[in-house]
Amino acid sequence: ISRLRGAPRPRLLLQGQRRSGKSSISSVVFHKMPPTETLFLESTTRIQKEPVNSFMDFQVWDFPGQIDYNDGTFDLETLFGDTGALIYVIDAQDEYLEALTRLHQTIEAIQRHNTAINIEVFIHKVDGLSDDFKLDTQRDIVQRTTDELADMGLDGVHIDYHLTSIYDHSIFEAFSKVIQKLLPELGTLENLLNGLVSNCRIEKAFLFDVLSKIYVATDSSPVDVQSYEICSDYIDVVLDMTEIYGYDRGESEVNTVEETKSSVGSSEDWSLPDQSSVMKLQNGMVLFLREINKYETPILVTPS
Ligand code: GDP
Repeated sequence: ISRLRGAPRPRLLLQGQRRSGKSSISSVVFHKMPPTETLFLESTTRIQKEPVNSFMDFQVWDFPGQIDYNDGTFDLETLFGDTGALIYVIDAQDEYLEALTRLHQTIEAIQRHNTAINIEVFIHKVDGLSDDFKLDTQRDIVQRTTDELADMGLDGVHIDYHLTSIYDHSIFEAFSKVIQKLLPELGTLENLLNGLVSNCRIEKAFLFDVLSKIYVATDSSPVDVQSYEICSDYIDVVLDMTEIYGYDRGESEVNTVEETKSSVGSSEDWSLPDQSSVMKLQNGMVLFLREINKYETPILVTPS
């Protein structure tokens, strides 16, 4: 895991129309803002580069949707050149045809500069929609996009779609999936977790980035949303306790890799901040959390 820190830091570009929810998403996922407080956030009107306190230093670029790619104001090579994934946010509670046109223009611009970018569409704010309506909306967006890209001669472009909301865990789950695809070491981490799970007879193991509650890896058994949610709630409890009664996490020191390394000494010291916690639930499930270093924590769910 220490090796992951030396890897190139993937840049995530968060794009979408005004009021689609970009600032809310980055505030809730990366800055622990309660979802209801996002009602008072200012809408994104310019490109903002947000520093994110996480072991991978994701760069989330909150990027307004009304940019014209052809007016020459933007150096698209720099913008898209080393971007790992473009997350395009569509407000599913609003008229989305204009947003789709923008998405298709963006994909076309991307294809001219960096065909390796993963394109991820977040069909967002689905908390207000019924299950049927959610699926119909997704079907409609996928169909329109597939048709339009085929007309543009871009039918080979792969796009992943996620139904998201900041009012539940779906936004964290979607980010986890987006980020996992950018990790070259994912296979190794998965194998290590598989070994752990089978040797210790654990039901499910997640490696979490505790500050964002994104899971970086998990063993290869399928993820059921409930066990993810329960682990994520457990992290909240442990973090709250740690903040009140625990040791100083030194959050002001974790902005960059270099600063953090100097604050803990040699790279072997990464295992030092070692905390663990066990909780047995009423239904017999046992949760075990063990901190590996300041950033990642494996959290394990075991049957009793
Ligand atoms: P931006 O202009 O794309 O940065 O959009 P904002 O982040 O400012 O969000 C616009 C509005 O959408 C705010 O009032 C948010 O509270 C609201 N919003 C964001 N995400 C969600 C969501 O998942 N569900 C609902 N119901 N509202 C959301």
